[in-house]
Amino acid sequence: MKGVLVVAEQLRGSVRDVTRELITAAAELGGPVTVAVLGADPAALRAGVDVAGVDEIVEVRTATAEFENDVYQRAVEALIAERDPAAVLLGFTVNGMGYGPAIAAKLGLGFASDVFGLAREGGDGDRIVCRRAMYGGKVHAEVELPAGRPALIMLRPTAWPAATGPGGAKVTQATVGEPGSSRARHREFAEAPASDIDITTAEFLLSIGRGVESKDDVPYFEALARKMSATLAGSRPLIDSGWLPSARQVGQSGKTVKPKVYLALGISGAVQHLAGMKSSDLIIAVNSDPEASIFGVAHYGAVADLFDVARELEKLF
Ligand SMILES: Cc1cc2nc3c(=O)[nH]c(=O)nc-3n(C[C@H](O)[C@H](O)[C@H](O)COP(=O)(O)OP(=O)(O)OC[C@H]3O[C@@H](n4cnc5c(N)ncnc54)[C@H](O)[C@@H]3O)c2cc1C
Repeated sequence: MKGVLVVAEQLRGSVRDVTRELITAAAELGGPVTVAVLGADPAALRAGVDVAGVDEIVEVRTATAEFENDVYQRAVEALIAERDPAAVLLGFTVNGMGYGPAIAAKLGLGFASDVFGLAREGGDGDRIVCRRAMYGGKVHAEVELPAGRPALIMLRPTAWPAATGPGGAKVTQATVGEPGSSRARHREFAEAPASDIDITTAEFLLSIGRGVESKDDVPYFEALARKMSATLAGSRPLIDSGWLPSARQVGQSGKTVKPKVYLALGISGAVQHLAGMKSSDLIIAVNSDPEASIFGVAHYGAVADLFDVARELEKLF
């Protein structure tokens, strides 16, 4: 059975959790699991990927310490040509999106993104079937990727548990052409301005979404949160529109939170939002749409107008 190539993701000298989640998925798929680690000093990242389930770690020395799209693209293309894996697994992350689809399009590979389920079918396990979300998470689809060529699959973060346990993988080194970026030069990281509040430590979050509809209503929810001794947070569209500061964003590209209570008002429950709050101790969702995905993770839900519920809450606190 052909193997699976996992591309490790790292940031500022640490392997990101999503990498070990990809390893779990790769081990489930079957076949030898190889993890490619790219970096200026890939050996320094070895401990972060040498976990149970990994057969080989291939270290690719690059001229850039930090992620660059074109460097990863070149390196992964070379590894695919050299090793002909059944599948290449990448995180469905901002970094992965920067080069994964480009490789799949250039090499004509089978491709699926936002995948949360995987299976291998056929006698030689050559046919890979992916479960993925479509239409903003409103439907789940099963897609079969063409047999006989590698499939590039981008997995949803947090969909698989992270691989743990002692490793013992064989370590090899690879050189894959020009090691530097021709498109950008990473100069520095600048810390984001200190935020007004840290939503990751709040015990009670009142989180508002696009259901709020108007910027003028945001101060009302700020006051309600204060009254309820909660901290106000929100979904990404409110941050993108400038209605709330970025420090208040919950989700994949915002903060991961785990409060005792997460009260979601007018939030649909897109996967990128759920990734940041689904582990909250108690989730209460209010949404006028009974089909809203947020109800899939909520412990309590109300199909109701959020403003009606807010007015009732005002009376209670
Ligand atoms: C790479 C990437 C990263 C992302 N990162 C994040 C992230 O970190 N965090 C995040 O939140 N999103 C993120 N997103 C965006 C995400 O896909 C969704 O678009 C977003 O979460 C939707 O926000 P929402 O639920 O507030 O809005 P919508 O999806 O528009 O939902 C609004 C909801 O309000 C309900 N509603 C409307 N009026 C009322 C009412 N009066 N009473 C009750 N309910 C009402 C509607 O039924 C609907 O369910 C990301 C997307 C991408 C592609």
